[in-house]
Amino acid sequence: MTWSVGIDIGGTNVRVAQVDSAGSVGCVVAEPVDGERRGGAAFGQLIDMVSELITKAGGEPPMGIGVGASGPVNPREGLIENPYTLPEAYHGCVTKSLADVFGVPVRLENDADAAALGEAWMGAGAGAQTVVCVTVGTGVGVGVVRNGQIVRGANGSHPEPGHHVVDPAGPPCYCGARGCVESLASGDAIVAEAARRGIEPSCSSAAEVHAAAATLPECRRIVERSRAVLALAVRNLVVLFAPDVIVLAGNALGDPEAVLAAARREVAKYTLGPAGGVRLSLSPLAGMAGCIGAARLVAVQQDAA
Ligand SMILES: [Zn+2]
Repeated sequence: MTWSVGIDIGGTNVRVAQVDSAGSVGCVVAEPVDGERRGGAAFGQLIDMVSELITKAGGEPPMGIGVGASGPVNPREGLIENPYTLPEAYHGCVTKSLADVFGVPVRLENDADAAALGEAWMGAGAGAQTVVCVTVGTGVGVGVVRNGQIVRGANGSHPEPGHHVVDPAGPPCYCGARGCVESLASGDAIVAEAARRGIEPSCSSAAEVHAAAATLPECRRIVERSRAVLALAVRNLVVLFAPDVIVLAGNALGDPEAVLAAARREVAKYTLGPAGGVRLSLSPLAGMAGCIGAARLVAVQQDAA
C-alpha cells in the first residue's frame, strides 16, 4: 500500500510517522525538539528523522510528506514563522528543505489544523461534518475542519481559538492578551503557575504538577483552574461553531476523563446549541492525530493553501 510521511512538530516533541493511504500508522520516530542537529542547520533534525523512518519502513519511498507545525505558519509559502516555541533551526521554508532532500511533494499546515484533520479522517470526528479539535500540550491549539477542509480566516490565516480570553485578569500571553485559554490551561501555563506560587518541591513539567495535585492543595488548585478554563473554552467553541463534535487531545490534559466530564457539565448549561447536541469526545488516536492529519495533506488538497 502507498504511504506518506506525517510530521507533527509540537513545542516540545517531534513525531514522524509512516501513514498508509487508509490512515493506518506504521513505523514512528519520536524525539524531543532539537535545534542543534547537524550543527543547527535548517530542519536538520527533521531530515535525520525522515531518513530514519524511510529506512525503518523498508526503504520504499513515500508518496509525499505532510507537516503540521506549532504556529504561526504560512501554508501557502511553506514557511514556519514561530519564534515563540520553536528554535532557530525550525524557522524558514520547511517544504523546500524537505523536498530538496527527499524529492517528493511536501505540504505544511498549523499543527492544530493537522490534528483536527486527523480526527476528522480517522478519529472521533470520522463521518462528522464540522469537527473542532482542542489539543492541550505545550500550548493550546484549536483546529476546525468542515467537510474535510480546514476552516481558515482572511488570506488563508489560522484562527486562534486557543488564545480567546476567558479571564481578563489572568496572566499575560505572547498573543498580546491577558487570560487567554493558552495562558491558563496549557502545559507551560501550569508549570509557570506552579513556579509563581513557589511550590516545593518544584515542578518542571505539567505531568509533575498533575501528579502532585493528589497530595498538594496548591497543585490541586492549579489543576482545577486549568480544567475549569478548558471546560469554559469548550463551551465557547460550541457557542461559536455549533460543531457536530469537539475532540479533546494532548499530553497536558492531566486527567482527560475529568476534563471531558467538566466540559460536558459546562456545555449542558448552554441553551442554544445545535439540534441533536454536540458530541464531546477524547481523542482515540493515542497522540497520533497530528501525524495522521499531516499525512492526509499529501492526498487531499486543502483550499486556499
Ligand atoms: Zn494567548
